Amino acid sequence: MTVPIAKLSFWGVRGSTPTVDPATWRYGGNTPCLELIAPDGTQFILDCGTGLRMLGSRWAAPKGGKNPETHIFVTHYHWDHIQGIPFFSPLYVENNEFHFYSFRSKFLGRDSLKQVFEAQMALPYFPVDMSAMNAKRKFKEVDGGDSFTIRENKITARWLNHPQGCLGFRIETPAGTIAYATDNEPGDAKLDESLRELAAGADILINDAQFTPEQLATTRKGWGHSSWLEGVRVAREAGAKTLVLFHHDPDSTDRMVDSLLKRAREEFDSVFAASEGMVITLGAPGEGVQAHMPGTRTALRREAQFRAKVCGLTEGGKAFEEETMVRDLSLQGALISLKHLPQLQSELQVTMEAPGENGVQAMKLRGYVVRIDEGAEKGHVAVGVVFTD
Ligand SMILES: [Zn+2]
Ligand SMILES: [Zn+2]
Repeated sequence: MTVPIAKLSFWGVRGSTPTVDPATWRYGGNTPCLELIAPDGTQFILDCGTGLRMLGSRWAAPKGGKNPETHIFVTHYHWDHIQGIPFFSPLYVENNEFHFYSFRSKFLGRDSLKQVFEAQMALPYFPVDMSAMNAKRKFKEVDGGDSFTIRENKITARWLNHPQGCLGFRIETPAGTIAYATDNEPGDAKLDESLRELAAGADILINDAQFTPEQLATTRKGWGHSSWLEGVRVAREAGAKTLVLFHHDPDSTDRMVDSLLKRAREEFDSVFAASEGMVITLGAPGEGVQAHMPGTRTALRREAQFRAKVCGLTEGGKAFEEETMVRDLSLQGALISLKHLPQLQSELQVTMEAPGENGVQAMKLRGYVVRIDEGAEKGHVAVGVVFTD
């Protein structure tokens, strides 16, 4: 019997507005869009932020036969959750079929999401109108409290505390359960409870972590967002296994997100900061959750031969120090072969020996673990790091 496996990909993780600031490139600047492929092949898309365009441009054409079913859940109608729709190229392809799910907004009335489509493509805001969208589209209204199944997966929707409303979605697959709770603020007893119901025993809880706990208590109170600390509380109380910090503030640099993640990891065992290109596998044998991050995207890579000393923390949280060779180097990062298994999204001190005027000199760099693969040598892992300031 084969083990059921689900794959969760992060295409957009930024809140409020996209960013192209170089200081935000590591976590990524596209607004919310997640993709979940369930073990039965059903494709779920969660939110249609600008990350949706990237998903569309990598759209895999079906290898013969029918296109797989795609079910798209839109949590609410704020720009950052809908702005990718007109730029999602599969919507312009005739044989594709999409099932959209969202709530009836009291500001829009019937067919709220359909109206959002039309409004986004109305003149003078967009060059072509709806008639250019040839894919079949079906719209379904969902309400907080609804629960239904799509093939072998169970979906539950719950209201979250957010201006003009927002739905959280829980998807239970045979490989595991994810709870998607973007855009929510703690402080409403009833909705705090529904967030915990959504997250109960989930393998992955994706929670709004836009603000620091300090901002949330003061200047950003009432803005509709949450913090890493609230995420930790919810994960603990609901018994969720892994917490993913999501909806990063557009003003948060990568270093700021690093520090939020660090603080969250001091309080809860399994935490990741959502990162564009990150893939989490559920149900894989051996571990409950495996996360992978893409390599450096644009780096010019060169083969190199630098002796290096690497210090960091293992997955189990133990400090290690190891001598190795760096054989693949770019200005942005390096691929380092290690015997120790460092934690993904942790920091390594990489001290490389570089020939200088007065003999060999030590070059100290801070490397951030973005990727771990099986190593070329036996008993080693290939660790991809990005150098940070
Ligand atoms: Zn948002
Ligand atoms: Zn919002």
